[in-house]
Amino acid sequence: MLKNIISDSQRLFVGKDVPSEYLHDQYVGDLKPLYAVALPLTHDEVVGLVEFAIAEDLKIIVRGAGTGVAGAQVPIDGNELIIDVKLMNKIVDLDEETFTLTVEPGALIGDIHEYVQSRGYFYPPDPASKHSSIGGNVATNAGGLRAVKYGVTRDYVKQLKVVLPTAEVLELGSLNIKSSSGYNLLHLFVGSEGTLGITTEIKLKVIPLPKHTYSMIMAFDDVFKATDATLQLLKGGAKPSEIELFEKDAAYYATELLKYDLPTTKGEAYLLVEIDGDDPQDLELRLKMMEEDVKDLALETIGLVDHDEKLRVKKIRDNILVGLMEFTKFEMLDEVVPINKFATLIAYTKELSVKHGLDVLNFGHAGDGNVHTILMQHELDDQTWLLKRKALLDDLYAKVSELGGLPSAEHGIGTVKKAYLEKMIPEVNLKTMRAIKAVFDPEGRLNPGKVI
Ligand SMILES: Cc1cc2nc3c(=O)[nH]c(=O)nc-3n(C[C@H](O)[C@H](O)[C@H](O)COP(=O)(O)OP(=O)(O)OC[C@H]3O[C@@H](n4cnc5c(N)ncnc54)[C@H](O)[C@@H]3O)c2cc1C
Repeated sequence: MLKNIISDSQRLFVGKDVPSEYLHDQYVGDLKPLYAVALPLTHDEVVGLVEFAIAEDLKIIVRGAGTGVAGAQVPIDGNELIIDVKLMNKIVDLDEETFTLTVEPGALIGDIHEYVQSRGYFYPPDPASKHSSIGGNVATNAGGLRAVKYGVTRDYVKQLKVVLPTAEVLELGSLNIKSSSGYNLLHLFVGSEGTLGITTEIKLKVIPLPKHTYSMIMAFDDVFKATDATLQLLKGGAKPSEIELFEKDAAYYATELLKYDLPTTKGEAYLLVEIDGDDPQDLELRLKMMEEDVKDLALETIGLVDHDEKLRVKKIRDNILVGLMEFTKFEMLDEVVPINKFATLIAYTKELSVKHGLDVLNFGHAGDGNVHTILMQHELDDQTWLLKRKALLDDLYAKVSELGGLPSAEHGIGTVKKAYLEKMIPEVNLKTMRAIKAVFDPEGRLNPGKVI
């Protein structure tokens, strides 16, 4: 009986009592009824729930904060058991001798940032979804704004405790800085979108917190000048930690929501560039270097040194997606191409917009070659939208593949991009991934039908 594992009725919802939040998703329609949703508090409860699912032959879906945008955390077959780890949200320990932060999987990334920063440390991965869980971040290998200098979630995961769908428990990784000691199973689980195991504890690397961050907002005639400028900034010596690109039309949704404007109104495209370090004089010098790097391309550059002003501008970038959600209907992509192909990709999205008669906006992590192309549904009826969307996506992903890119840089494949992943990577790679899935999950119990 499930009640023997989760005795608290506030943490167990069976059949028709399952709250509606588990049965709706912005990206996947027509969700089927669930067997139950259980909210464990401990690792042992997770093991118990998996044993129950095995005994009752139920499929399992693990869920963190439910912010996923690839349809990986939602039921697709019906009668699944959702294990929602959001109440396993403790920040357990900061070990200052090994620079290791131990957390439960439901801890929110925004809370983790605050916790380590208040103690003088820094956890750089910075997805704009501050309300997503670290378990979800690990499962999607979340990236975020600072990847250009600091890398992505994978680079900061030291150890994972994982419950397999067979109810066995794996302890992966170690606190050692280096390892050449067999296959790296830890990295298989990072980015596996809840298809290999359920993470119940995470040990993360933290680093000393840079004392200062300065930013610069740069205005350009168009996105092509902005992407050229990105290459100049990457080549230059200023060592930016973030290079974020957004079109004026994309910033519009955030400024409408926040009710204030960018400090510049020139041009049609912007770069928001951040630098960090300990020495204010060095940072001032690096701001000047950046100005020099883009002087032949930018219409205007404004250095942002004042803490509050910097945060106000960054908030505009962070709220583009939230604003879009508030004001219109759309689909967000997260394709990635080699950095020298970024401008070609953006130009192609504009061609596709004309060809398929769908509005397209772009914003994203220019320093990583990762663009969030936004397909706007606006007022289109669902049938027309779905037809146009599919035709545009078929063209777009074919181009991404031709440019040497991949369908997802940071949001994952889930169900939404599965058909495109299948077309974009070699059959033998897919076969190998399916074989790996079968090793950890021989009965196909955990999150089946997702990713591969
Ligand atoms: C407004 C917004 C902005 C965003 N911006 C960014 C961004 O800048 N960069 C970026 O990288 N991403 C971004 N994202 C995506 C976001 O990072 C992911 O949605 C997030 O990492 C998923 O975390 P979650 O806790 O919501 O997981 P869920 O949505 O609950 O689940 C996502 C996946 O993780 C799996 N999972 C969750 N917990 C566990 C666990 N404990 N063990 C095993 N598998 C688990 C689920 O099964 C599912 O496959 C954004 C999303 C939104 C809505």
